[in-house]
Amino acid sequence: MVRLKSFLVCAPTIGLFSFALTSQVFAQNPAQIDQANKTITSSPALEFKTSTHAFPFTKPKNAGLFLEVAIVTDPKLPQINQDLIAAALESAAKTFEIRFGLQKPHFVVTSSLSVSEFMKQAPLETSKYCLSQISKRYRGTGPQEFEPYEQKAKKFLKKWSLKSLTSFVTDSKIKRSPTYDGVYEHLIERYVTTVQRLAETKTRSQQPLVRPKYSTEQSFAAWNCALREQRNFDVIITNAFIMADIMSEPHPHAFFGKAKVGGIATLNPHRNALGKAALLATTFAIDTPITWLSELDGKPALPKERAEILGDYLLAHEIAHAIIGIPDVYDHPAECLMTSRPNQSYRVGLQLLRRHQKPCSRCRKWVDAYRAYHKAVKMLSNNRPRSALRYLSRASKITPKHFHGGYRRKMSDISYLVAKAYGEIGRKSRSLKFARRALELNPRSKEAQNYLETITSTDTEP
Ligand SMILES: [Zn+2]
Ligand SMILES: [Zn+2]
Repeated sequence: MVRLKSFLVCAPTIGLFSFALTSQVFAQNPAQIDQANKTITSSPALEFKTSTHAFPFTKPKNAGLFLEVAIVTDPKLPQINQDLIAAALESAAKTFEIRFGLQKPHFVVTSSLSVSEFMKQAPLETSKYCLSQISKRYRGTGPQEFEPYEQKAKKFLKKWSLKSLTSFVTDSKIKRSPTYDGVYEHLIERYVTTVQRLAETKTRSQQPLVRPKYSTEQSFAAWNCALREQRNFDVIITNAFIMADIMSEPHPHAFFGKAKVGGIATLNPHRNALGKAALLATTFAIDTPITWLSELDGKPALPKERAEILGDYLLAHEIAHAIIGIPDVYDHPAECLMTSRPNQSYRVGLQLLRRHQKPCSRCRKWVDAYRAYHKAVKMLSNNRPRSALRYLSRASKITPKHFHGGYRRKMSDISYLVAKAYGEIGRKSRSLKFARRALELNPRSKEAQNYLETITSTDTEP
């Protein structure tokens, strides 16, 4: 997950379905206009379709990283401006290329739907994973709710150095002599107070912003599950308010901050474009009239800046979580897209990034591991298994342990490819060993399961 931490600058909202089809901004490539489906392509990296439902579409040849986008709207909150989305997607694609030196993604908006329609796409009440996650959500009744999750939550916090966590601490005694236990207690105290304030906060129409005791509509646990279980989209853009609430995984910038989630990147076994992942970013923080939750520091922002906050600061950040596996960090230099700083608004964060237009040297190790892995994938598809093995060996050595999406899962993916490469050069026992290792590291890996079944059935053939 996440940028967390908004206002009312409410730019004029164009109704979602009255999207400016004739806008010159989007009509730069008339060849891409499909009158039947009212599809408009504004640039090679961006495509829009307008519909209350999903439209069928054809993936362009050689599109590279091709991402299907849905707009998910909460009717209670300020609506999403279509021009903002178009510009933000374009901005996210460019930023991703500049910051990480990787090919920019191509986005196509294929659907628009309400929050409740979106949530229906996920089996929230039957999926074992969802039920388990939702059972760990904070219901706003006080610090005692955290007791059953204390050990897991402390283990989760230990992914970060004490020094980097201490940047969020405001208690002077804990700041002077920090311990994980002290930081954890302080985090719970701050979070419980923040959620109390959120529960007392009203929307412009005087409805409660969030009802942690009764409803999962604004729950990160529920959104994360829906994003993980739905089968139709790689990217969701929403205007919803999402509250960080999984007690066993207290993401420091959210729990020490406003308990607000700006984006999510999570696993999704059904989506391949981002490597079995899906992601989300919300415009809530850019459009809310609620001053204390605003990320624009109470001052109006021009459309360009708003689009850059959504595109550069939120979307590109989530893409990097999903594709490269870089986790949230708190101590990288000013040019780092993945660093959250205490009390830093999105606006200030974006300004800092603009002044430092270069890749982050400390994120480099994740980018190098990503490159090695993808070189291996390419070599395998070009029937060069020996070269693939060299790249896989490098990837397994340099993949950082703190890895978004899970180190064991990544190592399972690597082992699976090693098994395939050995299989292709006829070394069956080694292939078998690595296929088993892949499954041991990630028992849910369908690829490893299928591969193991294939090679073992081949082995027993008369
Ligand atoms: Zn993040
Ligand atoms: Zn960095």
